[in-house]
Amino acid sequence: MTSLAARLARPEILALPPFDIAAQANGAFGPDAIRLDANENPYPPLSDGAFAAGLNRYPEPRPARLTQAMAALWGVAPEALVVTRGADDAIDILVRAFCRPGEDAVSICTPTFSAYAHFAKLQGARVVEAKLDGDFDFDADAFLAAVRDEPRLKLAFLCSPNNPTGNAIDPAEVLRVADALPETIVVLDEAYLDFADVTSLAAEAARRPNLVVLKTLSKAFGLAGARVGALIGAPELVAIAARALPPYPLPSLSIEAAMAALTPARRPLHLQRIARIKAERARLAPILACSPVVTKVRNGGGNFLFLEVEAPEALAAKLHALGIRVRFRPNAAPGGLRLTVGTEAENEAALAAFGVAEGAVPVRRGEAVRETRETKIAVAVDLDRATPRSIDTGIPFYDHMLDQVAAHGGFSLLLSCEGDLEIDAHHSVEDCAIAFGTALSRALGERRGIGRFGFALPMDEAEAQVLIDLSGRPYSLFEGSFAATHIGAYPTQMTQHVFRSLADSLGAAIHVRVTGENDHHKTEACFKAFGRALAQAVAREGDAQAIRSTKGML
Ligand SMILES: *Cc1c(COP(=O)(O)O)cnc(C)c1O
Repeated sequence: MTSLAARLARPEILALPPFDIAAQANGAFGPDAIRLDANENPYPPLSDGAFAAGLNRYPEPRPARLTQAMAALWGVAPEALVVTRGADDAIDILVRAFCRPGEDAVSICTPTFSAYAHFAKLQGARVVEAKLDGDFDFDADAFLAAVRDEPRLKLAFLCSPNNPTGNAIDPAEVLRVADALPETIVVLDEAYLDFADVTSLAAEAARRPNLVVLKTLSKAFGLAGARVGALIGAPELVAIAARALPPYPLPSLSIEAAMAALTPARRPLHLQRIARIKAERARLAPILACSPVVTKVRNGGGNFLFLEVEAPEALAAKLHALGIRVRFRPNAAPGGLRLTVGTEAENEAALAAFGVAEGAVPVRRGEAVRETRETKIAVAVDLDRATPRSIDTGIPFYDHMLDQVAAHGGFSLLLSCEGDLEIDAHHSVEDCAIAFGTALSRALGERRGIGRFGFALPMDEAEAQVLIDLSGRPYSLFEGSFAATHIGAYPTQMTQHVFRSLADSLGAAIHVRVTGENDHHKTEACFKAFGRALAQAVAREGDAQAIRSTKGML
């Protein structure tokens, strides 16, 4: 039996020969084969940048590892997903694969993302417009009534959360629409799903003949410039849509950037960034509602707010003068504008433009990513928040030690590491310390308004003394020794190393002296005391702009 996708597809698409004959033929060769098949230039581009390596070669037609990584991220089989040049491209290939010019139609629910109608018109498909309700919510019955008389409705675009209004659609309603329209492919655009509290229908799309889901790394993963998205659906449907792709859709650089973004070690940081954007969205909404120029704030599920303002022209002029870009959306609502949630500092500038500045204290947050052949590490530090603390170095005792630093330092620390523990703990321990120190240093920025010095002496039978000077100059001193070689998987001789690495990457003088009987206690005392000393040294003190140095810099 032919699949629904095969019945709905344009005959020209079905008639195309499979395009990747060359790729299949060459599949038998290993990566070291001599490549004289593709008329590539044998010399890499003239550049001293590492990014140029391999750019003389064509990329993989269908990037296999990236397909697997994205499929795993969204919980579907690799056959149910094709990687596209952004979700935009997925919209385009759907329209081109399924809509015959002058004959077939697509539906959209306005106001919504403009690309659906754009690509449909480009292909000569008719665009049937249904309306969201007065609150910009999706009304399934009204929608079904609007498309009832369309015999050739090939694609029904639904956007959840919707751009530009932010409203999400209950997944059960999406499925009800798919059930009611068995001869139409329902296209659910989940570009902003990560910022909303609705569940994804990606896995459901992989199982159903007439539901597909669009995904993108542009928004939640911060990769808009790389142009990486995906189409998820039943394998037969995905294979047919993929026939409308060009031979080499994704540049190698984009494939690499996407693979790096999907490194498991970076996942906690991405989730924290998303949480941060959501928290900012929630913070901004009530403040903007108090703005004298704003009549309505819609706090939906995207990384943006939808505002309605009194005098859009005057506001546009003001924002332009201040160099703040927002997107006016008069077609959605008179005086409608979409305001993307930025960094805390950017949002502060926007609040000021709307006449509701908060005078927020600058955020002291630092992130660092360190990737070598031995370890992949991602760290985030927020000096002004005590939580979350989540540390996964792969070495439980070391996790516990770094957790002590953050707990006694009074700051949030996310750290995850995938290291070569099969060799030993050395690389992971050292590289985590380097990355942690880098993130701390970034969080401190120009080191204005901090105490700069810290010391601590916690007691027990073990005693550790830690002195810190956040001078900007690395110096490390360690006095003490351990009887055992290891505590769990953690080598005791690494403690001295950790503090040296921290001193180097943080730009600090760190003196540690430890005495006592029990190695576990002694080690723990070092880390706790370091946390305590750090808490003093980074504490905001006096003039927020002051740099505690007669040199005027740290
Ligand atoms: C931004 C956006 C996209 C486009 O994503 P890309 O992957 O950057 O092409 C898709 N759908 C909606 C609703 C968007 O707002």
